[in-house]
Amino acid sequence: MVKNISVKTKSRTEFIDITFNVKQAVDEACIKSGICCVYVPHTTAGVTINEGADPSVAGDILKTFDKLIPHKDNYSHMEGNSDSHIKTAIVGSSQNIIIEKGKLQLGTWQSIFFCEFDGPRSRKVIIKVIPDN
Ligand code: ZN
Repeated sequence: MVKNISVKTKSRTEFIDITFNVKQAVDEACIKSGICCVYVPHTTAGVTINEGADPSVAGDILKTFDKLIPHKDNYSHMEGNSDSHIKTAIVGSSQNIIIEKGKLQLGTWQSIFFCEFDGPRSRKVIIKVIPDN
């Protein structure tokens, strides 16, 4: 089963919690055990899993990325968004989450975040639920 979801971002850099959408896709697949692959088909946006309980964690991650990878630097890429490409390369384009007893095996504090690094834009996330039986 595959499901596409749309994400509208509002800022240049932003984390959006998509855990609910991923859980919904897993519920719709009605499987007991397998893998859920969350894939972002963009070069300046990615996906990560981290703490969702305290929103300041996502804020600190974004702030640290901006400090380490400045928007303007001596980059060669003419489009002016090399920082966005670099941040995406670090975060990655997919996450795989194990499904057992029909549930995503996320830890208590874990959430799945869509990571915007060159917004605001309309984005796509592809969720593939793969049963193991
Ligand atoms: Zn570019």
